[in-house]
Amino acid sequence: MLIDLESTGKAALDNSYDICISGSGPAGLTLALKLAKKHYRILLLEAGGLTYTEASNKVYVGTNTGLDYFPSNVCRQRFFGGTSNHWGGWCHALNTEDFEVRDYVPYSGWPIKKRSLDPYYAETAAILDIKTSTAPDYLQLLGKDPNLEKIDFSYSLPITRFGTKYRKTVESSRNITCVLNANVVDIKLNENADAVSSMMLSNFTGENFETEADYYVLCHGGMENPRTLLNANRQVKHGIGNGNDLVGRFFMEHPHFNVATALLNYEHPAFARYASMKQADFKTAFYEPRAAFQKKNKILNFGLRFRPREGTGTPPHHSSFKERLKRFVCESDTLLPIADDLKGEKRVNCPHDLSLKTASEPSPNPDSQIKLAKAVDRFGNPRIDVDWRLTQLDKHTLRQSALEAGRILAQKDLGRVRLSDWLIDSSLTFPDTAHDEVGGNHHMGTTRMASSPEQGVVNENLQVFGIRNLYIGGSSVFPTSGHANPTFTIVQLSLRLADHLNSRMNRD
Ligand SMILES: Cc1cc2nc3c(=O)[nH]c(=O)nc-3n(C[C@H](O)[C@H](O)[C@H](O)COP(=O)(O)OP(=O)(O)OC[C@H]3O[C@@H](n4cnc5c(N)ncnc54)[C@H](O)[C@@H]3O)c2cc1C
Repeated sequence: MLIDLESTGKAALDNSYDICISGSGPAGLTLALKLAKKHYRILLLEAGGLTYTEASNKVYVGTNTGLDYFPSNVCRQRFFGGTSNHWGGWCHALNTEDFEVRDYVPYSGWPIKKRSLDPYYAETAAILDIKTSTAPDYLQLLGKDPNLEKIDFSYSLPITRFGTKYRKTVESSRNITCVLNANVVDIKLNENADAVSSMMLSNFTGENFETEADYYVLCHGGMENPRTLLNANRQVKHGIGNGNDLVGRFFMEHPHFNVATALLNYEHPAFARYASMKQADFKTAFYEPRAAFQKKNKILNFGLRFRPREGTGTPPHHSSFKERLKRFVCESDTLLPIADDLKGEKRVNCPHDLSLKTASEPSPNPDSQIKLAKAVDRFGNPRIDVDWRLTQLDKHTLRQSALEAGRILAQKDLGRVRLSDWLIDSSLTFPDTAHDEVGGNHHMGTTRMASSPEQGVVNENLQVFGIRNLYIGGSSVFPTSGHANPTFTIVQLSLRLADHLNSRMNRD
């Protein structure tokens, strides 16, 4: 059933529910739909309506005080279906090593292994309509490399918009009561402050409500899950689950930066076979570092993209590789001051055939944080302040990805790579949103999963430490994130959480 708190939905809040799930993005809807098959009475709360509204979106407005980042009301969506309403559909599961402790990566290691999520792979692939790309890779030229491995990305095709795909199922469900325009504005605890007793709600006309269930799951996304807990500070001073000052810390986003450009040596005999290829045949090729290479070089995981520039595959007939290479070197920002004759417009024409983009695993860093800002939203709750930070380990990893691309092309004389100038510098400066993609809109780590409350906010079953009936869904629970886009893992975790709640509710 789908109802609206602005009109007919109010009476539904008086019913009793087994479980209250707040947030109808990939995390919340996956959980609700799976538990509905077990015949539980589920209350699914959604802050927005069925489509975008300015009133709901404005609640997401915040500030950025760390690295330059997207506006926080642009990098997520606040209505039925959540941010899946404009996600890109790129999917990849995490690797075995992404879950492990690495001695050179402080705070690494999940309390669960990849094998805990593997049983949910097929179910996740069906939910997300996954198709794996088998696009030909013109860089197969490289052969089997000891350091890098080619990977195939999967895509949600057609892109799964959770609100669109599952609206009818929710509408016709006898077990799910989905209430739209139901903003969770506070969480009430019992007298001992060890369980949630109710959720406090508001609609956009300013009416307030209270609703109860046996279990509660917050699925508000990686920025809003910590904000909701931090704002629930009427009974516990620094917010629910925040006894160890960890809620909102370890904010991670996959840095997405142009790390280099490459010039291909079309005079190499290997390129002869590409003469007949059409422009459209040249696709982006993805590589990741092998686990042994990561360990040896003390780097994080990364996804290195060899992206053909328009015109790639059309060897320039008028200039030799050597001539093009001269300009390629001389027109770099770093060398420009000594190349007096190359100024102005010529730089714009600097030749290159590939741009190398890396989306890397971010280092878990307690100083990278989602905090409460001074400004408040229409419900009187402090907005978010995003203080995104990267470390030397991140810069080292990004640089290493570019150097590997350089090694691979130079070793076989297939081309040469020029590092982006900001990578040569050892300072912690990174390109800003005016000049690069910066991130993937992936918000992770802010209520991290751990084996003890001193190390994280939720336990291995995603239950908030110390609050026996409160759980968290979504990428805020990731302790580390590999380089993979997060939604595949988010859905796997929700399916696993559904199994856990089902067995717990059967037991209790
Ligand atoms: C432009 C863009 C492209 C992306 N591309 C990809 C991609 O290619 N691959 C990938 O894996 N990921 C991608 N992502 C990220 C992906 O969208 C998220 O990982 C995913 O949507 C997170 O799911 P979620 O359910 O945890 O949170 P969300 O989808 O953000 O859902 C949270 C829900 O909670 C609701 N809510 C929030 N606060 C409250 C409240 N107080 N009360 C009640 N309800 C509330 C919101 O309205 C929303 O419906 C992209 C994101 C963007 C913005």
